[in-house]
Amino acid sequence: MNFFIYFQYDKSKKIYLKDQYQLFTHIVETSTVSLNNIADTVFYLRINKPEILKIIFEAEKNKKNWKKLRNKLIKILMPDYKFLKKYGIRQLHFHLKEAVSFIRFHRLDKYGDSLKKIRPSLVLANKYKKIIRGFEEGRVFNGYRNVYPLFFNGEFIGTVEISFSAKAIIDMIYKTYPAFYGLLLKKSNIKNKVWSYLNQGNKYREESLFNNNLVWDKKVLDYMIKLEYLDFKKLRHLEKLFSKEINLSEKKVYELKVGNENFILMFLPVKNISHKTVAYFISLKKDSYLNNLRIHYLTLSLIVTVLLIIAFVFIWLYLEKRSKYFNLLQETSYKDSLTKLLNRRGLLKSISQINGPFSLLFLDIDKFKSINDTFGHKTGDEVLKALADVLRKNIRKGDLVARWGGEEFLVVLPMCDKDNAIKIAQNLRKKIEEYENENIPKFTSSFGVVSDVNISNFEEKLNKADEYLYKAKKEGRNRVIWQ
Ligand code: GH3
Ligand code: MG
Ligand code: MG
Repeated sequence: MNFFIYFQYDKSKKIYLKDQYQLFTHIVETSTVSLNNIADTVFYLRINKPEILKIIFEAEKNKKNWKKLRNKLIKILMPDYKFLKKYGIRQLHFHLKEAVSFIRFHRLDKYGDSLKKIRPSLVLANKYKKIIRGFEEGRVFNGYRNVYPLFFNGEFIGTVEISFSAKAIIDMIYKTYPAFYGLLLKKSNIKNKVWSYLNQGNKYREESLFNNNLVWDKKVLDYMIKLEYLDFKKLRHLEKLFSKEINLSEKKVYELKVGNENFILMFLPVKNISHKTVAYFISLKKDSYLNNLRIHYLTLSLIVTVLLIIAFVFIWLYLEKRSKYFNLLQETSYKDSLTKLLNRRGLLKSISQINGPFSLLFLDIDKFKSINDTFGHKTGDEVLKALADVLRKNIRKGDLVARWGGEEFLVVLPMCDKDNAIKIAQNLRKKIEEYENENIPKFTSSFGVVSDVNISNFEEKLNKADEYLYKAKKEGRNRVIWQ
């Protein structure tokens, strides 16, 4: 039963964690699409205009005019760039053919260099002359890039990149769904870049303790720490504590428990333009639902256990009572209620279990009728009880005494020959005669004795004993007769 409850708990937990992961995936994707839409709007409404395309066309034609052309383009688009920055658009970057940088709006002094070797997105846009989008690592900046091909009079003249940072995505998702977010970059991937992580290490990256192949994007990290959802010390503590459990090739969702606090940690793979996982979006969310779920199921299992114990006790009590009742029933069906001796049925059952022959004493109280008549029926009953006591007290273990009817009794003596049976009968007769009790009158009894009795000759022998008993009565009572 408790196993079944645990199974249900585990199932509910898995469903919840899966839902959380889907939600995280969904909000990251939605935010990315929203930011791409802003980039598209800017491109189609502000950049893809003859006035601007003509400048690029001319720059491509004649390098000497660059200074004039650059100033002209900067003058037109700088207000737009400043406005876009507010929406998380970080780079507006024009390139001529062959990925030669023409204007970086975020860094106007640097241009003329070729980005062919370090920007696969630019190479692809030049090659296929269509919009290329996706996550891409840069020397400093990493984020989602939208690279648009530029055409003038049907001729390909260069490209423009409008990109936004991972921080822009995180900013957007934090506003709708507060948690600690981060971007973890794969170190192995960064090392391939010209401007290596090693050179720029502590400025843009921060080692992650989750896994030694991962580094935090420091800009995102600093931003998140400022939001105070989780402080840096606690993050470090969690990273250290769970670093051994994190296995990204197997699992992307983790449940972290630290003291009273519960967290859900999720890793969402970020693929670059060549569909290779180069980073992970991280969500570390305080979560009490799973704890409540655990408490709920623990309580349930406790209640079920208690109920089972109660049910068990009730069943046990019922069975106990029933067996007592059966014992009582059995006792009353085999015993005489007045004298507590075996009754006729009890005796017959008992002698069926005796191995070998036995002797039989048949006795009857003398003039019992007159005791009843003189002292009353109640006293008669007391006499019967007294006789039963005398018989019980004066037999061996293994002998049987039964009330055969009214005031007639049988004593069964296993392993006892005729002579001994007579002796025992004489002794009993004497004990009865000598018995004294102030509440009842003195009484005597007569005996008929037979031996070599077994189950098959029992009736015949009993009749014989009855005969001898009758004889004893006739001869004056208070005596033992055996033939
Ligand atoms: P005898 O010496 O010839 O045996 O004389 P008796 O009076 O004992 O003869 P009888 O067997 O005819 O009488 C038995 C009497 O025992 C009859 C009946 O009322 C009485 N009796 C039988 N069972 C009980 C009982 O349970 N309680 C009482 N008080 N009397 C009983
Ligand atoms: Mg009698
Ligand atoms: Mg009688």
